[in-house]
Amino acid sequence: MASPSLSEFDLIRRYFRPAGPSGDPVADARVVLGVGDDAALLRPDPGHELVVSTDTVVEGRHFFADHPPASLGHKALAASLSDLAAMGAEPLGVLLSLAVPQAEDAWLRPFSEGFLQLARETRAPLVGGDTVRGPCSAGVTVLGQVPAGCALRRDGARSGDRLVVTGELGGAAAGLAAETRRREQGAGPPDASAAVVRRLFWPQPRLAAGLALRGHAHAAIDLSDGLLADLGHICAASGCGARVDWPAVPLDPALAGADAALARECALGGGDDYELLLALPPEVELAPLAEAAGVALHVIGEFTTGDAIRVVDATGAPLDAGRSGHDHFAD
Ligand code: ADP
Ligand code: MG
Repeated sequence: MASPSLSEFDLIRRYFRPAGPSGDPVADARVVLGVGDDAALLRPDPGHELVVSTDTVVEGRHFFADHPPASLGHKALAASLSDLAAMGAEPLGVLLSLAVPQAEDAWLRPFSEGFLQLARETRAPLVGGDTVRGPCSAGVTVLGQVPAGCALRRDGARSGDRLVVTGELGGAAAGLAAETRRREQGAGPPDASAAVVRRLFWPQPRLAAGLALRGHAHAAIDLSDGLLADLGHICAASGCGARVDWPAVPLDPALAGADAALARECALGGGDDYELLLALPPEVELAPLAEAAGVALHVIGEFTTGDAIRVVDATGAPLDAGRSGHDHFAD
């Protein structure tokens, strides 16, 4: 229900201002001053670099008006934290720039709960933001730290490095395909708890993996635009090419039973999985790293000389890779 009497300040206090320290000693020690003043004060550990990234989601572009708000709060934060993970950084705090058409409790409450729950789980306290009236959008800025010189960047891959991915791919695209079908059939608002949309609605930033891979991986990127598109970014930045062994690509369980063309399109071209793609030198042992990362690590190919990105089948024959990821300005 709309509550027109709620002022901007009441809204911030009610939904986004935590009542005192979080109780998490690590997070609290780094936040000298959080929400409520003109700016937040953070205290990074000595000898660290500040890592900063921002991402915005806009209604009609990234999500539908009936997107379950708890999922939206979670996902907007997860997408930004995923960028910290890909740099091997640990979170210090986050800022939320929120635009809403009206102060509606039925939307703001679950949105803030979805956001703040992931913030607690990832030790990424909400330390500030901005709240305006307007078409619905959420911009999330994440602040993190990494020991000086140790960030995982896109430009360090070398020919001969193994191409490694965390977790499984294609789950978010499979969820989006199911959601699109459901929508075309005129069904009601999505059910965020359905298994088929788990990866699409509740992505998990691979922060522990980013930390575990620091000092081991030559390069890293998070998979937001699709495997081939994001691999293209690493290859371009590193000045190398890559070979992807299609049979080694780990498929999300949501793609079990899907036909081969759909599975390939989802796993190679689908965005929003937020797994990490890495260049790991051949001598690094994977099992202990996977243990520390808390997620499976799969070798799916190799970085090569040249600049071509090839996808091959079990015999080494080239496969048509199909569409290669999302570009907002391409259409
Ligand atoms: P100012 O006018 O000084 O920019 P605001 O009135 O925009 O301050 O915000 C007041 C306080 O509330 C600031 O500390 C700001 O960071 C915080 N804040 C505003 N909106 C949000 C939000 N959506 N989430 C978290 N903190 C917010
Ligand atoms: Mg302001």
